[in-house]
Amino acid sequence: MRSRASTSPSGLAPYAAHDTASRGRRYPEPPSEYRNEFQRDRDRIIHSTAFRRLVYKTQVFVNHEGDHYRTRLTHSLEVAQIARTVARAMRLNEDLVEAISLAHDLGHTPFGHAGQDELNDCMREYGGFEHNLQSLRVVDELEERYAAFPGLNLTFETREGILKHCALRHARELGDVGRRFIERRQPGLEAQIANIADEIAYNNHDVDDGLRSGLLTIAQLEEVPFVAEHLRAVRAAYAGAEPEIVAREVVRRMIGALVGDLIRTSQQAIAEACPETIDDVRALSKPLIGFSEPYRNAQATLKQFLREHLYTHPHVRRMTDRARETIRLLFDAFSADYARMPPKYASRAAAAEERAGKAGAARVIADYIAGMTDRFAFNAADALSQGRPIA
Ligand code: MG
Repeated sequence: MRSRASTSPSGLAPYAAHDTASRGRRYPEPPSEYRNEFQRDRDRIIHSTAFRRLVYKTQVFVNHEGDHYRTRLTHSLEVAQIARTVARAMRLNEDLVEAISLAHDLGHTPFGHAGQDELNDCMREYGGFEHNLQSLRVVDELEERYAAFPGLNLTFETREGILKHCALRHARELGDVGRRFIERRQPGLEAQIANIADEIAYNNHDVDDGLRSGLLTIAQLEEVPFVAEHLRAVRAAYAGAEPEIVAREVVRRMIGALVGDLIRTSQQAIAEACPETIDDVRALSKPLIGFSEPYRNAQATLKQFLREHLYTHPHVRRMTDRARETIRLLFDAFSADYARMPPKYASRAAAAEERAGKAGAARVIADYIAGMTDRFAFNAADALSQGRPIA
């Protein structure tokens, strides 16, 4: 691969994802008159039912705990915003990173990671449950909006970005989009950006929500050198500022610093690897988008801090325990009697059992539970315990 400074007519770098060179959709469609292929993907994602449900799904705090915490929807918007900034600065495809970012959590269960872990436990004998894989299932199969095909029929590039991780046994069943996990190849740069933008977004907004909730304090956060550094700078610049303003200013500066380092370091890595096309990027054994070592460490330390002080805080634990019980109750009840689900799912589970045995029915149940919002899951569990039908 030789170095090349040229850009495509679109102004994008030659190694960006170009919608005109997309690997296409599973069901071929004529092009849209006014939008490129990735803009069309983004629009389909925004119009999906799964996207609207994100507003009532937990990020860390359950939806009813307060009006100002992040939900999966606002999280996804923040990811998209960060990813677009990075993509634009690097002459990569902003429409594609936006589509991937907005779709990346569509497969998330209610109640954040606690919900996903419990559903995975419930599904242990039936192939497990992975939220990345579920996001792909949502856009490939579960959304019912179009007469001509199941799912949203998104481009290969958007689907490639949505499937961030997946177990090898699943990768083998996924055809083109699973192949890179078997061959240990990379996705395109836009997918790599969306992946890291997710990390930047949740680490920083969890600090913000943690402080807002009172579960974290500024004094605790001073243990983290990366936070302490920005705290010192903000206090020096704005002596006497309210603690809430100081905290928000710190979060804002941390995001800015991470994004800046990500762009500089990734540009350097691209200059060294000299990819000419997206397929050159895909053929590499390592991603090109990433932080410098100090920033990688800063992110890792922050993540570790949040694990110790926020995600395992007794208040969050109480919520996650209740979340896990709720998911387990729903799964057991539906498994014991499919008719406890609405008729559409009950008949699907019965048909899946005919076709694929217990594992087939369990997948239908997992799809139904994963699609629920936090409050729908709580209400459904209440209804079941009281012998009422699920409304
Ligand atoms: Mg996410």
